[in-house]
Amino acid sequence: MAFRYANIIIDISHENVDRIFQYRIPEHLLSEIRVGTQVCVPFGMGNRIRNGYVVEITEKADYDPSKIKEVAGLVKGSVTADARLIELAWWMKGRYGSTMNQALKTVLPVKRTVKARNRQVVGPLAADGARGSALCLNPDQQRIVDCFCQDYGQGDRTPYLIHGITGSGKTEVYMAMIEHVLGQGRQAIILIPEIALTYQTVMRFYAKFGRRICVMHSRLSAGERYDQFQRAKKGETDIMVGARSALFTPFPNLGLIVVDEEHEGAYKSEGAPRYHAREVAERLAQMNGASLVMGSATPSLEAYAKAKAGIYRLFTLKRRAGRGSSPALVEVVDLRKELAEGNKSIFSRRMQELVADRLEKKEQAMLFMNRRGYSSFVSCRSCGKAIRCPHCDVSLTLHNQRRLVCHYCGYAIPLPKTCPDCGSEYLAGFGAGTQKVEEMARQMFPRARILRMDLDTTSRKGGHEAILSAFAKGEADILIGTQMIVKGHDFPGVTLVGILAADVSLYAPDFRCVERTFQLLVQAAGRAGRGKKPGIAVIQTYLPEHYGIQTAAAQDYESFYRQEMGYRELMHYPPAFHMLGLQVSGKDEGLAGHMMDLVQASVARHFGKCVEIIGPVPAPVYKVNDIYRKILYMKQENYDILMRIQKYVQERWDETEDCKKLAIQYDFS
Ligand code: ADP
Ligand code: ZN
Ligand code: ZN
Repeated sequence: MAFRYANIIIDISHENVDRIFQYRIPEHLLSEIRVGTQVCVPFGMGNRIRNGYVVEITEKADYDPSKIKEVAGLVKGSVTADARLIELAWWMKGRYGSTMNQALKTVLPVKRTVKARNRQVVGPLAADGARGSALCLNPDQQRIVDCFCQDYGQGDRTPYLIHGITGSGKTEVYMAMIEHVLGQGRQAIILIPEIALTYQTVMRFYAKFGRRICVMHSRLSAGERYDQFQRAKKGETDIMVGARSALFTPFPNLGLIVVDEEHEGAYKSEGAPRYHAREVAERLAQMNGASLVMGSATPSLEAYAKAKAGIYRLFTLKRRAGRGSSPALVEVVDLRKELAEGNKSIFSRRMQELVADRLEKKEQAMLFMNRRGYSSFVSCRSCGKAIRCPHCDVSLTLHNQRRLVCHYCGYAIPLPKTCPDCGSEYLAGFGAGTQKVEEMARQMFPRARILRMDLDTTSRKGGHEAILSAFAKGEADILIGTQMIVKGHDFPGVTLVGILAADVSLYAPDFRCVERTFQLLVQAAGRAGRGKKPGIAVIQTYLPEHYGIQTAAAQDYESFYRQEMGYRELMHYPPAFHMLGLQVSGKDEGLAGHMMDLVQASVARHFGKCVEIIGPVPAPVYKVNDIYRKILYMKQENYDILMRIQKYVQERWDETEDCKKLAIQYDFS
């Protein structure tokens, strides 16, 4: 009888061993070892026993069979990982150019014992605020659910894209679909961007499905995640609601994946493998014969292009579902004119008038400032220099008028009295972060009750919920915040949304910056007038004629899509083309630059005729934590060619000695 061999990845909690090792499976273990089984193997010169995951079983020996060691045994008390997740890891490794170890770490929760005091039951939240769940779907919603049930019965699994304005009732549609799938004895994964993973959203699912729900978010410890996954595996739960990593829930019979707010940047992983949750969801759904449903008020260009090409099935919800609720009116205020007419405040006269009016009427307002602490850096009025982080290539941000903090590495110093560069005493804070906005709002509206929500005020566990529920209960008149206040919340009392600086994100060094701005503005406007009273959104901008601002003000997605897609086609950016960003980083700036030049020359020599190469250029933030980062961009219509380039570079990279001092990372988009 032919021998069987197990290909093994050694203990995924350690970064350093990153190859696949082959062991012979002894006869008495043949029936017990499968893909995903955790085994003990003799490893290295001393044959120390180490644990590992079986990632493949084969009859083909990779080298001289007489030299292949035997598997020593099974890991006691271990659970076998889902073979489909291991298969998914293989796919992610290939698709995103990571190592197998990185891919496995992403899909498998690393087992750690949970310390008793850390153990937190993520069970049902308090039931206050839960609403009844006996809604009758309207005809537009019902049509989508009917199509879904029919397709589901026929095994037709074309992904759905629901383009529905905020408040059009997408969440109700998802819940009806989930109910259908659960009725078939299968399970569902609901992805929600971390930022929207709050009390309100989760509450609605609890109200409908109760204890069958599990919630997964980034503030859970490794042990807590592990426990959640175990519950899913044992069939103790059948709906997982969570951010990106909820995708890897090992349900025995997954039937549906919902990706809500499909366009969200948070669905893209920052670390290797740099996967996109939408793509992984698509693959995972295929592997499980499950359905994929995506929804957004502002679909990503990627998803909308696929829908136009017939790869996704497109549904549109154009009206708000709540009775008597209609989309907000949007006004654009030209800040250039304000300044020319002598108003130097961050509140235009129109904005002041509207806020005062809401206070008078006892209605609520939300004021939105992109990005925490944006441009609230401190600079010297004598020499003009901003105070920067000594380790990163960014300005420090002013907090509470007392401390300067680096948002990349956490470096912090007290606000100096004099300029570190020239000694001048004329230091001044610039621009407006959310703190500054709060301060100015308090001066302008002294009698208003004001709440602020940003990373500073929500960093403690439960911070989000406390602020949101206080605002929902009407304990404040004005909520000031960053991105996180515009997403996914439903406050019927809000009749005014003010976007204080719409242009901020138009200047980001990123080809998606107009798309991001459009999304933010439309989502923000969608927060006004969710109840019975009509709402107004005011967009303050220095660029009122920009197509991103214009189409957002008109809430005209189609027009935005046409213009933005034209730009992507012209510039060969995704989704018109595919793009591979290859990043080399290291402490030794010269070496990183030198290696990057070698990579560039080698790619140009071998692939120069079939791929557009840009750079190498410094990363948008060149230095972080004393590590220098350079990027080479490659553009091609054909994804496979970019994957070939990635493999070509990686093979040569592994052979060089210098590469040990540097890191290489790939980012496909
Ligand atoms: P979306 O997810 O598209 O933003 P939601 O599902 O949150 O929309 O619905 C917006 C509001 O409308 C919610 O308060 C919801 O309870 C209500 N709603 C949704 N569908 C209906 C319906 N068929 N009838 C009445 N109200 C509805
Ligand atoms: Zn100075
Ligand atoms: Zn720093």
